[in-house]
Amino acid sequence: MLSLEHYRRDFPILHQKVNGFPLVYLDNAATSQKPQVVIDALVNYYQKINSNVHRGAHYLADQATIAFDETRKKVQKFINAQYPEEIIFTKGTTESINLVAFSFGEAFVSPQQEILITEMEHHANIVPWQMLCERKKAILKVVPVLEDGTLDIESFYRFLSPNTSLVAITHVSNVLGTINPIQEIIQVAHAAGAKVLVDGAQSVPHFQVNVQELDADFFVFSGHKIFGPTGVGILYGKKELLELMPPYQGGGAMIKEVTFERTTYNRLPHKFEAGTPNIADVIGLGVALDYVQNIGIENIALQEHALTEYATQQLQQIPSLKIIGNTPNKVSVISFVISGIHHYDLGMLLDANGIAIRTGHHCAQPLMRRFGVEGTARASFAFYNTKEEIHKLCEGVEKAIAVLT
Ligand code: PMP
Repeated sequence: MLSLEHYRRDFPILHQKVNGFPLVYLDNAATSQKPQVVIDALVNYYQKINSNVHRGAHYLADQATIAFDETRKKVQKFINAQYPEEIIFTKGTTESINLVAFSFGEAFVSPQQEILITEMEHHANIVPWQMLCERKKAILKVVPVLEDGTLDIESFYRFLSPNTSLVAITHVSNVLGTINPIQEIIQVAHAAGAKVLVDGAQSVPHFQVNVQELDADFFVFSGHKIFGPTGVGILYGKKELLELMPPYQGGGAMIKEVTFERTTYNRLPHKFEAGTPNIADVIGLGVALDYVQNIGIENIALQEHALTEYATQQLQQIPSLKIIGNTPNKVSVISFVISGIHHYDLGMLLDANGIAIRTGHHCAQPLMRRFGVEGTARASFAFYNTKEEIHKLCEGVEKAIAVLT
């Protein structure tokens, strides 16, 4: 296994004891930890250059604006968008999807048209589309998931029709770890005349994403899952589409001219960025992306793949444990249930040993229903996790089984 363990030193939060034990942080799919350089960037912003952007004619405003605009270019490069103005800052994946559901929905979705989602979506990629369908009298269709956690691609082909307006699909499932065949889905959807939104919340932190190669119409993700701060996320949209879409919110910065009779709107990306943005966290996200690039996203991918394979092998040795999501092509997430043990009790006992995993429905209640469970335990890895931590997880689970059954 490629060793990236020395990078652990960059993450101060990892070096503490929880409940008397060294912290084992295996909840990275919920949010990743932040390296010191990101924390420093936030402090530096407030200590040295705090100012509003795009408006001031003074030193601090210039410095803040330069740092803010640089991040847009960093994100553009990171996902290989064609233009910086295709990158819209939002507060996270959830807001990015809501923006598209509202704005694309206003411009392009008419009654009886269909929005196609899948059974493995996070609530953030379900509810905004239900709301849109209610507003527009459109129809929501759901592509099922197979027993091993892969998408039922044949159903996808069957459900797609000239009536499909948009396909909204996750790149990687936050519960199953499944990597969906996004390139194929986009090609087929385009051939049917539909646009595609890709929820990249769980893909961008784990492997290289190239939005032009994918030909995605929209691609969204959150900064906090890729070692950046909370409160900042990205909407990538193809320029020609964003140009045709109405603003999502009105206010400062998104206007060209305001009169009481009529307002004209600013050019991209500002049309979609009403009000004072989250300047500090945007700058922090830029530093997080630099950090990832210094390590190399391909090295991160290799390390996490090795950890996930190893943890799968180890967990599978435990007889009463069943992993949900068994596709070979998966990323960094292992969901499991143990017969006779409630996932919540397991989570509490692991926490007592300093081990942080996620338990519950993972904001994917329909998927839980699909697998006939109320919730699961979920361990999710980042490159800074170690084999030793996986051993501790397995020991913790075995201890819990001994205590609880
Ligand atoms: N989609 C997926 C696949 C996710 O994993 C998450 C976060 N768990 C979200 C959307 C929502 O992200 P956020 O809460 O950062 O907006």
